[in-house]
Amino acid sequence: MGYMSTDLTWQTVSTDSASTMALAIAIGSQLRGGEVIELVSDLGGGKTTFVRGLAEGMGSNDKVSSPSFTISKEYRAGKKTLYHFDFYRLADPGIVANELSELVGDQNAVVAVEWAAIVEDVLPAERLRIHIKTTGETEREFSFSYPEQLKYLILKEA
Ligand code: ADP
Ligand code: MG
Repeated sequence: MGYMSTDLTWQTVSTDSASTMALAIAIGSQLRGGEVIELVSDLGGGKTTFVRGLAEGMGSNDKVSSPSFTISKEYRAGKKTLYHFDFYRLADPGIVANELSELVGDQNAVVAVEWAAIVEDVLPAERLRIHIKTTGETEREFSFSYPEQLKYLILKEA
């Protein structure tokens, strides 16, 4: 199922990459493990930048770069691991979709997915969805939708 009408929503604006990082660090620092985050935007919207902030907020020292060619990457943060998937232009998710589905529900795993349409079936309905819209050279509009049980992630003053 797609959009859940019971989801909560929140919008904010980013003025530059640093502002996107700050927003993502704030959210990353609230992650407990077990969350799934879907990032939606055009190319260059800032999805990977946002994941870089999540990793930093989780306390990881690992370097975040686009997983486009490897499809998935892992960043260690204490006993939690952030798994970063990017299905851009992947026609057959196959084994990677299996890997992803096995991570869903793992309380030590946080899963962040770019270009998730092809794995929609294996993503839980109860996930944080982040839509990023490019509204200027460095301006982005962020729209979050999330179920009640993930509201601890959204710091409305961020
Ligand atoms: P995506 O993963 O959505 O393709 P990336 O995070 O890889 O996007 O790239 C975003 C690009 O846009 C980077 O070059 C970044 O420096 C630039 N950028 C400019 N303004 C912003 C912003 N407000 N937030 C995020 N990235 C921005
Ligand atoms: Mg990307």
